[in-house]
Amino acid sequence: MSITDDKSRPTYPARRRVLVSGALGAAGLLTLPVILPPQAQASQTEAMPADDGPLAPGWRRFRFGEAVVTVIADGVRPGPGPHPTFGSDQEAEAVGDLMEANDLPRERTASFFNVVVVQTGGSTVLIDTGFGAGGRENGMGRLTARLRAAGIAPDQIDLVALTHCHGDHIGGLMEDGAPAFANARLAVGEAELAFWTSDEARAGERAGNAQAVADLVLPFDDSPTLLADGDEVVPGITARAAFGHTPGQLAYEVAGGARNLLIAGDVFHHPVISFQRPDWRVQFDMDHEAAAATRSALALRAADEGMAVMAYHLPFPGLGYVIRDGETFRYLPESVQNLTDTL
Ligand SMILES: [Zn+2]
Repeated sequence: MSITDDKSRPTYPARRRVLVSGALGAAGLLTLPVILPPQAQASQTEAMPADDGPLAPGWRRFRFGEAVVTVIADGVRPGPGPHPTFGSDQEAEAVGDLMEANDLPRERTASFFNVVVVQTGGSTVLIDTGFGAGGRENGMGRLTARLRAAGIAPDQIDLVALTHCHGDHIGGLMEDGAPAFANARLAVGEAELAFWTSDEARAGERAGNAQAVADLVLPFDDSPTLLADGDEVVPGITARAAFGHTPGQLAYEVAGGARNLLIAGDVFHHPVISFQRPDWRVQFDMDHEAAAATRSALALRAADEGMAVMAYHLPFPGLGYVIRDGETFRYLPESVQNLTDTL
């Protein structure tokens, strides 16, 4: 069955693609959406997210060898900056100059929230969960509605694998007090969970985040699979240490055909700064030196191995590849080259 990129299939209000729940059988993960006549859509429209500007319809699908990868936009947040969030150890002028050299605004940026579903080896794995209900009044928390729009029901998820435990990654685990993915187990970095459940985290300035872990992660699964560097998550997906942003962040390497895909969580936050200046300090990173070392090491691997990279906060769909540029790197979004065998 062929998988198509949704952008090649325009939708119109009177003929929106509506997923019929009966199409979600065991072998129906990859079932293409069915178009129903307008009168049949009434009961389905609640499940459809509103189309909203540049993110409509909010998902993209790619194939890497045997793996089918669907990226869901949980939301997008415009904001000021990038300085001092990025390059907090630099003069604002230097950060602005780098933006200008790349034809970007000096003082405006946006953060995206790209949640990924990997279907490989018979498993359906959700990587991170967006903001959940807590983000909806600000336009985030679109994951479950857009999953359905992309033909994946929440109860089809077999495993939720977290890159790390910040609120924008774990907020969607629970919905109305119950797991949002009823049939899924949970996998999380061993070092990550150990930190967020430690006295150090609970008593310090990060107590709020530690409380969110207690409220969301453990109620979702009180005995999650604990992952370390090199562990097989499911056949076809391997955990890779990506420490620094948080004490136990993991990236996930998906075995592809021509190239593997590295789902890199919050290693790379900005399409220019994270690659051209990987050593610049990022306020979100808990251990600045470790985060910078991880950023450079993974960019180098991606560049030298031709590995595709996907990152949570890069412009949707957050997928591209990395090339060397002198001592550092450049990120090229997937749209400049067909990365996958689906396009
Ligand atoms: Zn994040």
